Amino acid sequence: MIDFSLSEEQLALREMAREFAEKEMKPKAAKYDQGHETPTDVFQKAFEAGFMTCNIPAEYGGGELGNVDTVIVSEELAAGCAGMYTTIMANSLAYTPLILFGSPEQKKRFLAPATRKMTFASFCLTEREAGSDAGGLKSRALKDGSDFVINGSKCFITNGGIADLYVVFALTAPGKGKRGISAVIVPRDTPGVSVGKVEDKMGHRASNTAEVFFDDVRVPRANLLGREGLGFMVAMKTLDNTRAPVGAAGVGVARAALDYAVEYAKKRVQFGKAIALFQANQLKIAQMAMEINAARHLVWNAAWLMDRGKPCGKESAMAKCFASDVAMRTTTEALQICGGYGYMKDYPMEKLMRDAKLLQIYEGTNEIQRLVIAHEVVGPVRDAK
Ligand SMILES: Cc1cc2nc3c(=O)[nH]c(=O)nc-3n(C[C@H](O)[C@H](O)[C@H](O)COP(=O)(O)OP(=O)(O)OC[C@H]3O[C@@H](n4cnc5c(N)ncnc54)[C@H](O)[C@@H]3O)c2cc1C
Repeated sequence: MIDFSLSEEQLALREMAREFAEKEMKPKAAKYDQGHETPTDVFQKAFEAGFMTCNIPAEYGGGELGNVDTVIVSEELAAGCAGMYTTIMANSLAYTPLILFGSPEQKKRFLAPATRKMTFASFCLTEREAGSDAGGLKSRALKDGSDFVINGSKCFITNGGIADLYVVFALTAPGKGKRGISAVIVPRDTPGVSVGKVEDKMGHRASNTAEVFFDDVRVPRANLLGREGLGFMVAMKTLDNTRAPVGAAGVGVARAALDYAVEYAKKRVQFGKAIALFQANQLKIAQMAMEINAARHLVWNAAWLMDRGKPCGKESAMAKCFASDVAMRTTTEALQICGGYGYMKDYPMEKLMRDAKLLQIYEGTNEIQRLVIAHEVVGPVRDAK
């Protein structure tokens, strides 16, 4: 059976997220983008509305949203402001390994407090020399008595400069490659944790992206997530879960661009006619509408599979890759419809285009997504050598 309808609860959730995006995010998006500031006032309200902890199980005080629910919310919030959405999503990204692999004790210690007070969290995988090749990371978490001692640095970490909690991927068994990586929970106030450069970015400027340093950071062995040596798997399973929401953000950004362009084209008169009446613009509008719809269906499909516990690595990669490419194409074409006005910072279009770009890069670049898809589609091949 195929059913594309949303339940009463999902429709209400979508309405609530849409209203939040319209009232709290959109009106402040340009200001925080231009000022490159963290909108703590918006995040406090997002926390009160439950968005900052929406994937945490109800048992620990969170919203326990399913994956389809999450992509519905993601599309709406990203349509309001992709930068603010990235901060909210980064919390979910950091909580996901805890939700999937944390012990009840760890969940009580680290997830429950996050639902009582607005806090930020970071997922710390990327390093200067280990981006797409995350398995090549160099940070170490070596055992010393009943502790791990962490040394290393992470770069491009969303919420890095403002987080209260870090999930850090580091080598507990150097020399074993990916199989030597483990995931360790590190509270921000642990001695030896410091924040380096806060990046000045092209888009998503309301989100904080920073370097994080770990110098002889000592955490108890009880902070190990899952088993030793399984950290790379923890990271990959986490990303399988969070790629559909990134795709949903692509749908949200693309939809916001299309809506703006359509309204603009209906009002803008050239050659004595609204430019919406020119077929050249109508063809662009039709193409954008088709692609957005296709992207949303890929995103919903991946989320639907996840909700049923079915394998979805390929589908999540397809959703993230296709929808973020659609966001890039749509914002480019929508800006074109707005002509010179689209290019000016007084209007929202150029921000949407800058924001779309990051969706093709973070949580695994779209080239890496295509490799994941091809790996599954092609299957095993005997090497001729
Ligand atoms: C704003 C922002 C926020 C981020 N937030 C986080 C975060 O919260 N946590 C975190 O851990 N990381 C985060 N990242 C890091 C992000 O996931 C990486 O930037 C991304 O995975 C790519 O790594 P890289 O930048 O080192 O590029 P590289 O890996 O150096 O890639 C450069 C280019 O080469 C291509 N390439 C690389 N390898 C291959 C290959 N095998 N085949 C084909 N093409 C290839 C890539 O697709 C890309 O086009 C963030 C990045 C940004 C920009």
